[in-house]
Amino acid sequence: MNLGIIDTHAHLNDARFKEDWAEMRQRAKDQGVVATILPNVDVDTLPEVQKYVSSEPKWCFGMLGLHPCSVEENWQEQLNAIWQHSNQVNWVAIGEIGLDLYWDKTSLSRQQDALDWQLIKAAEMDLPVCLHTRNAHAETVASLQRLRPPAGGVFHCFTGNYSEAVQVFDLDMYIGIGGVVTYKQTELREVLAKVGLNRVVLETDSPYLPPVPHRGKRNEPSWLTEVVHTIAQACRCHPQRVIETTFQNALTVYPKLQN
Ligand SMILES: [Zn+2]
Repeated sequence: MNLGIIDTHAHLNDARFKEDWAEMRQRAKDQGVVATILPNVDVDTLPEVQKYVSSEPKWCFGMLGLHPCSVEENWQEQLNAIWQHSNQVNWVAIGEIGLDLYWDKTSLSRQQDALDWQLIKAAEMDLPVCLHTRNAHAETVASLQRLRPPAGGVFHCFTGNYSEAVQVFDLDMYIGIGGVVTYKQTELREVLAKVGLNRVVLETDSPYLPPVPHRGKRNEPSWLTEVVHTIAQACRCHPQRVIETTFQNALTVYPKLQN
């Protein structure tokens, strides 16, 4: 894979990309986006993710997993259905998985069960994990301390403070940084200035969380250049260094990108 920007978390299977997929992909390639990773969300998104991974094998990579906001009471059946596809694709990670107490606190125990089950699978399959955690940093860290995935992983869309970043690094994991770093109301730039780039990967979370000056629109991988520039400013380095370091980090944490 040529050196460039890797969007480590993009829901490009979203219906909002159907109409201008080829143009969106060209804009991204023109801005130096050399690879994208599509997280799975639930049973229904799986065929879509698989479709893009097989039709764009050098540019789209896929993750296998059940999103915490999609964990239903029959979570074990959901996971069984998803894991029937575990051998069909060269999955680069288990994701996105985790805990979300922002939308629904009452489902914590089943979210926890589904997370545990997927952490055990990640260890068995020797794959890294991509973690979604919202209003649940401490609970997620506790789960990972209990069932630490040997292949590591990424806290996707990291928006925490300095000590939360250190907790992630203590788990030997990475933080995914996207559009939020460009927002006025965030301490992420100060956190990055302090922790540096050694454990940072880039992501858009497209179509969500577009960077300034595109807020309110559908996010897309080509706009990662805004994120790169903001990180470079925060860390007082050249944008090229942000690209090079995050590229190497992405290949380190997601080694199957190179297969
Ligand atoms: Zn996501």
